[in-house]
Amino acid sequence: MSTAAVLAATIAFRGATLIDGTGVPAVRDSLLVISDGRIVSVGQATPEALRALPPGTKVEAVSGKWIVPGFVDAHVHADSDEDLKTMLRWGLTSVRVMAEDSAAAVKLAYSSKTRGDIPEVFPAAPIFTAKGGWWDQGEPPDASLDRFADNPERARASVRRARVLGSAEIKLMLDDMRWCRDPLSPLPRMKPDVARALIEEARNEGLRVSVHAPGLSDAKEAIADGATALAHGVLDPIDDGTLAVMKSRPVFYIPTMDIFELLADPKGFVETVLSDPRAAAGVPAETAASYRSAAYAERYAKSYPNVESLKKKLPALRENIKRLHAAGVPVALGTDMWAFPGLGVSIEMDLYVRAGLTPLEVLRAATLTSARSLDLDKDRGTLAAGKRADFLILDADPIADVRNVRALSAVYKAGVRAVPR
Ligand SMILES: [Zn+2]
Repeated sequence: MSTAAVLAATIAFRGATLIDGTGVPAVRDSLLVISDGRIVSVGQATPEALRALPPGTKVEAVSGKWIVPGFVDAHVHADSDEDLKTMLRWGLTSVRVMAEDSAAAVKLAYSSKTRGDIPEVFPAAPIFTAKGGWWDQGEPPDASLDRFADNPERARASVRRARVLGSAEIKLMLDDMRWCRDPLSPLPRMKPDVARALIEEARNEGLRVSVHAPGLSDAKEAIADGATALAHGVLDPIDDGTLAVMKSRPVFYIPTMDIFELLADPKGFVETVLSDPRAAAGVPAETAASYRSAAYAERYAKSYPNVESLKKKLPALRENIKRLHAAGVPVALGTDMWAFPGLGVSIEMDLYVRAGLTPLEVLRAATLTSARSLDLDKDRGTLAAGKRADFLILDADPIADVRNVRALSAVYKAGVRAVPR
């Protein structure tokens, strides 16, 4: 059968408990109808709804299972094609990829639209930083523009070039990394006038701007300059004034709590993740063994020695997500998880629940709110008529335990079953 014929067929998924991503309670005994890569309808599997299905509809019985929207990770890096494939296998159907090279990222984004083996890619590119600063520690330059621009004019020119190359979003680093590197020497941080020029020019050109700024003063500078998202959680208590600005503009908050927890205790973090057999089953044995080795923890201790100070900051990180979420600041799920690509989503979800969000709220962060942070919510992020048919079928209840999103039975990207293939 041709791909077109497969897509044109109408499929109805009958009987699952469906969570639509908006935050409203789950629908039991649901009927999700898709056709041609789109959702036709979502509702209850009433006798009338079943009778109304078009002739020839293929009905799949999914009683005893759960359906959720495909996950949108608002902060990933993809070191390889294999990383992206792993992300899709864990239920990520769309990802914001932070990338060094704008042209390469745009090319990857284009091919990801039609590939069935990776999520759709939405780049934030390039990653601007100070020469010798964070993300100039061996990471490549952008081949077509200067991502280390060191004065406002060069900065603005680079942003305009990024837009011409097709970038819809840039990222910048505002961090000297003392919070994790002390007593090693601090890294050079981008000058404030360069940061302001990058952000202003991007906003003038209609681009989004994600800023890496885990310190409160850096985050406040990014917000004042016009950033559209904080790409990491903030490690100091966020004041009410900053919170109010984030809510009203809005500025999306992408906590990446898993990275801070990993840095604070690499060994404990790895053991906790791998203690769930469903997680361990998705990690190659040699990778798990290397993570469990003493050398792995030692490498972290050497590069990021400021562990005691970071541990003291974790309560503020946990309190910030809870306070911001309660106040109505949009919290988008992002993992930045290099150790466990894809699997990071369930790790991050669990950390949000531990910080005080409900599983339903966490699922919304990973779907609707992350999609909003990419201006994608009209097209995806929730299960509603007309939206792209990106969804997951789970064997266990994610409301009972959000880590049950690891019990993945199938991943659909644009109406096509991508996992298992
Ligand atoms: Zn990152």
